Amino acid sequence: MDSRDPLIWLLILCFFVIFVLLYKFIPPLFKCPICKKPSQDILIYSNRKRKRFCRDHLLEEFKKEFLNFNEKMVVFYPSLESKVGPYVYHYQAISDVPKKLREEKVGQMINQALNAISGKCSKCGRPANIAYFDPGTFRWEVMKSGGVEWDLPKFDEITVDPQMVCSHCVIDEIIYSLRNFQGDFGEGVGLPYNGRGVFLPGIV
Ligand SMILES: [Zn+2]
Ligand SMILES: [Zn+2]
Repeated sequence: MDSRDPLIWLLILCFFVIFVLLYKFIPPLFKCPICKKPSQDILIYSNRKRKRFCRDHLLEEFKKEFLNFNEKMVVFYPSLESKVGPYVYHYQAISDVPKKLREEKVGQMINQALNAISGKCSKCGRPANIAYFDPGTFRWEVMKSGGVEWDLPKFDEITVDPQMVCSHCVIDEIIYSLRNFQGDFGEGVGLPYNGRGVFLPGIV
């Protein structure tokens, strides 16, 4: 037996302990730039830069950017309240969606919904810029990944038509869901960018 073996194992053990300690103790050291509270939520800006915030300030930024974005969007209610796990709520610009996905069932549904946006918001009369799939529109399906069971959104079963609304009439409902998410947005809440697109919850 090689005499260096115990040393190698000791080194591996040290690296493992350091890794676990970093993983456990570093995230709480990130501070929200606004209130200095610990922050584990990440907001992804339209230029794809990522910034950490506490939940309250992330949602404040999200609201501001969401209301300022005037392109047409398909918005799925996040349905993330009371969920735990590596969930995200992201915007996907249509120009970034591969042609193959756009031609699939969900892609076609999103495209149809986008093309249907016109006229006035059904709630307040402002111009409508959102086709909104509201709470309860889709169900979650339990999928096993890496030995763990996760709920995944099942968009391909949707049969209802979206509501035509403006961003002012849906933002509070979306924020309610994101605020009550029980995990961390470690992989982010993605802000809208690059023209018309779709907001949807997912898992990383
Ligand atoms: Zn804060
Ligand atoms: Zn409205």
